[in-house]
Amino acid sequence: MMKLSSRILLSSPHMGGAEQKYVQEAFDTNWIAPLGNNVNQFENQVKEFTGSKSACALSSGTAGIHIALDILGVGQGDIVFCSSLTFIASANPIVYLGAKPVFIDSDLESWNMSPVALERAFRAYEAKGNLPKAVVVVNLYGQSARMDKILEICNRYNVPVIEDAAESLGAKYKGKMSGTFGKFGVYSFNGNKIITTSGGGMIISDDEEKIQKALKKATQSRDQAIHYQHSEVGYNYRLSNISAGIGRGQMEVLDQRIDEKREIFNRYSDALKDINGIEMMPEMEDTYHNRWLSTMTVDPEMLGVTALEIVEYLGENNIEARPVWKPMHMQPVFEDCEYFSEETDNSKYLYENGICLPSDTKMTEEQQKFVIEKIKEVLN
Ligand SMILES: *Cc1c(COP(=O)(O)O)cnc(C)c1O
Repeated sequence: MMKLSSRILLSSPHMGGAEQKYVQEAFDTNWIAPLGNNVNQFENQVKEFTGSKSACALSSGTAGIHIALDILGVGQGDIVFCSSLTFIASANPIVYLGAKPVFIDSDLESWNMSPVALERAFRAYEAKGNLPKAVVVVNLYGQSARMDKILEICNRYNVPVIEDAAESLGAKYKGKMSGTFGKFGVYSFNGNKIITTSGGGMIISDDEEKIQKALKKATQSRDQAIHYQHSEVGYNYRLSNISAGIGRGQMEVLDQRIDEKREIFNRYSDALKDINGIEMMPEMEDTYHNRWLSTMTVDPEMLGVTALEIVEYLGENNIEARPVWKPMHMQPVFEDCEYFSEETDNSKYLYENGICLPSDTKMTEEQQKFVIEKIKEVLN
């Protein structure tokens, strides 16, 4: 039992119980390597869960985005469109390949890539005769972006989509699993994600040939030969068979975790939704949010307190809360990159007024009541 005095976390690893059995299996068979039965079984589980035809387990989600961009031919001097409101791992691999990110705003219903801003960016780059090589679409906090509109636009310009589904495993858009809409989907199993392998990722696609390429890229692009032969440059990006053992156990409790995350969100929502000046992150119609993190926006004028002040007050009470991701177009490292917003800068608004609340599935109801109590306290 966690004590009320122990820190209440945003999202921490939550083991299901079977993980150690699969890790032991790796030890018993001496498959202590970045391949083995756990890796294969973990890939099979993700394929079955998402309905994707093929999958390749990797050492991180960042590696997945890097490999996806590489296989799509992104290189020196190319343009890649990318959601601005995200964690930097969505954009860093664009720079690894010598390409230039152009950032796209969010809409306020999904918090994800705005089709309006995306269309604007395409028109501007079409006029320059310099269409992007790829579009990285992020599904933030467990909600899918508007994939039908985004795909319609990208297909019209014949530009492939990479879905950064690092935060949205198990979320659905119009009945279909998040991550399965783009040419590639990428999941992350970092320690704070809805399930974890301590560190890890996976790239999925219905194009089995492309996933074969990803597997090759992830293993130093080794050709089929008994001697070590390489016809192109690759990476060392495969997932350890030990980590994959953790992943196997975690996949067994994924549905349960999503239910728990949604319950946590509903409890916040029930307690806070009637307060003028608080708005919970919407769940778009016809979508299923995995509620990886419970998030909300606050109106500082109505409430007399800013998002940052609320986060700080919670921190003083041993509660971990955070502002929403700082958009990429506001990051010093990307200050010379172009940005296309909607009429107003929505991602900036969400950053300045958004809060991620503790969404740890190990948090007790009592602890969550304490969080809610503290939020109400700081509003008065
Ligand atoms: C966590 C995360 C990643 C990166 O995943 P890693 O496994 O940590 O490399 C990428 N994009 C988003 C939106 C994330 O939240």
